Amino acid sequence: MSHIAYVNGRYLPQRLAQVNIEDRGYQFADGVYEVMCIWNGVPADYAAHVVRLNRSLKELRMAAPASDGALRLIIQEVVRRNLVEKGTVYIQVNRGVSPRAHPFPSPNVKPSLIVTAKHGAGPPESVAEAGVKVIALPDLRWKRCDIKTVGLLPNTLAKQAASEAKAFEALLHLDGTVTEASSSNAWMVTPDKTIVTHPTTNSILGGVTRATVIKIARDAGYEVEERAFTLKEALKAKEVFLTGTTTFVMPVVQIDEQTVANGSPGTIALDLRQRYRAYMDSLTEAAWNA
Ligand code: PMP
Repeated sequence: MSHIAYVNGRYLPQRLAQVNIEDRGYQFADGVYEVMCIWNGVPADYAAHVVRLNRSLKELRMAAPASDGALRLIIQEVVRRNLVEKGTVYIQVNRGVSPRAHPFPSPNVKPSLIVTAKHGAGPPESVAEAGVKVIALPDLRWKRCDIKTVGLLPNTLAKQAASEAKAFEALLHLDGTVTEASSSNAWMVTPDKTIVTHPTTNSILGGVTRATVIKIARDAGYEVEERAFTLKEALKAKEVFLTGTTTFVMPVVQIDEQTVANGSPGTIALDLRQRYRAYMDSLTEAAWNA
């Protein structure tokens, strides 16, 4: 039997059901979900799942895709069309479809709603009769910022907070240490003109621009240190700047309500921006084979 999926107002054979490639669930993991167990054709703990779904939506300031009543009718219809007696229903709500950008899209963008169903719930009794083995692992959820994954929900929330504060970026810190920014790497210049940026650990994305700027800076005779620095140091720094593929080198003149140095772009940041720009301008066809 072919499965029937509900996607944004339509019931479709599951193999034909699609979401847009600019859906934020796909590009940013900007979505929430629930899985309900269906037993004898009815859901277990329905109200608790709906409460948790609405809580997840609220926590992410995402609009509900349907009223509770409409959602129940959709779920019932998916269970009915798939003839599920014992199985599961999967519900996913994404923030919606909008050209890729970290901050939330316009409130006019409607959340996406996907509901699918599966037959069969849980492993067979024989598995429980034998019991199962587990392995112990450090809880890394999610401490692998070095991987350029599409699991960008925390980054989008940080960027949204920056947008709402009329700021260009959010400088992220962990236990007082600046790691990076929501979509760029963070740098500071000490009073003795040493350029400092966080080392490439699990705590930051190793920016390609970061590596290029380190090389450009060293070639230009600057001292560059790859070490962690605190937010306190950044607030007292001579300069602070950001780097990224679409940011190039961006001087930071204000952190929260405090200016960086005298509140003007730093000379080293501007020099590096110009040198980076010169590097970009020097690119030729050979760049394809670099
Ligand atoms: N950190 C984060 C979290 C990013 O998303 C990005 C780029 N988008 C960067 C740093 C900068 O990396 P790159 O210079 O490779 O663009």
